[in-house]
Amino acid sequence: MIKKYLLAPGPTMVPEEVLLEMAKPIIHHRTSEFSNIFANVREKLKPVFGTKNDCLLLSGSGTAAMEAAVVNCFSSGDKVIVVNAGKFGKRWVEICKSYGLEVVSIDLEWGRSVKPEQVEAALIANPDAKGVFIQASETSTTAYHPIKEIGNLIKLFDSKLFIVDGITSVGVVETKMDEWGIDILVTGSQKAFMLPPGLSIIALSDKAWSFVEKSNLPKYYLSLKKERKSQSDNTTAYTPAVSLIIGLNKVLDTMMNEGLENVYGRHELCALATREAVKALGFELLAKDIPSNAATGFYLPENIDGGKFVKFLREKMGVTFAGGQDHLKGKIVRISHLGYHDIFDTLTAISALELGLKYFGYNFEVGVGVKAAEEVIFKYKVSKL
Ligand SMILES: *Cc1c(COP(=O)(O)O)cnc(C)c1O
Repeated sequence: MIKKYLLAPGPTMVPEEVLLEMAKPIIHHRTSEFSNIFANVREKLKPVFGTKNDCLLLSGSGTAAMEAAVVNCFSSGDKVIVVNAGKFGKRWVEICKSYGLEVVSIDLEWGRSVKPEQVEAALIANPDAKGVFIQASETSTTAYHPIKEIGNLIKLFDSKLFIVDGITSVGVVETKMDEWGIDILVTGSQKAFMLPPGLSIIALSDKAWSFVEKSNLPKYYLSLKKERKSQSDNTTAYTPAVSLIIGLNKVLDTMMNEGLENVYGRHELCALATREAVKALGFELLAKDIPSNAATGFYLPENIDGGKFVKFLREKMGVTFAGGQDHLKGKIVRISHLGYHDIFDTLTAISALELGLKYFGYNFEVGVGVKAAEEVIFKYKVSKL
């Protein structure tokens, strides 16, 4: 038998009680039974988003909500600034360009976090820019961007929106949409929300809704105006992802029972333990400035092929990590801390990493990574019990 551990930054493991909830016979969506669940979900999402605004649920993976942000709030020819520091920053650039927006891209080396001054300089150089797009956590590089500080810069302008891809930060770290001046916040189901893929969530500030009125880009399935009207009546414009929404209701209860502070603390602890383990094994972290608590990425020794390494762990040992994307393919490994993930998942991850490294001939003292991780976990958790 090979027991499976899904430790990649999406999709992530789904708790048993959520799987069981979603396994119940399907219900019809135009019923009070569904509307009650839907209303509950929409309310329970607000503290996780840090907002009083409507959280709209869309059927489609996270990218659907990213595209919805662009097509609902902008017009062809609009100039926008994009922080492009990895695969997902590049996705903002691609979506914006697909719809004829003029993109000013702040290109960063993969692994770097943008400095608020770099965004400030771009705002000064482009006074006509209508928005700034960014990831909170750039999952491809495991770096976090200083969202709160950048939000403070942009909220001074009525003419500009701050659009944040929170797909691996909402539910991972505190994200205060309203207080931090985030105008559009998007996330997806299969990362911190510990659900299967297929659902995305988007919230807009009043400022962003005023942009919706002016937007001339084509949209039909992703029309947020239409969704807002339906969802304020606790239904959806089209057939919703019923099972995922029922699962999300359960997930949000689980998160509220644990307490959001504890959810964030758990991610922080697992991330810290993994970073210490990786450093103890002699590896360099990919995130140079502010590492994300969603996942930890690091460079493998040059003589180990990352593709083969990840495949070996997945197929022979049942442990799924993620490799690198684009030019980092084969060079790095990324270990997730997202969602239904606790200290023993972290220790499993480090232990599997060590066994794989030993198999691939890396020269190190077996156990140093696990020891470093356990020391962090003992110091910040076990000793306090
Ligand atoms: C996973 C991810 C996405 C893409 O979401 P899909 O669900 O694959 O469409 C976008 N941004 C970030 C930061 C992600 O981690």
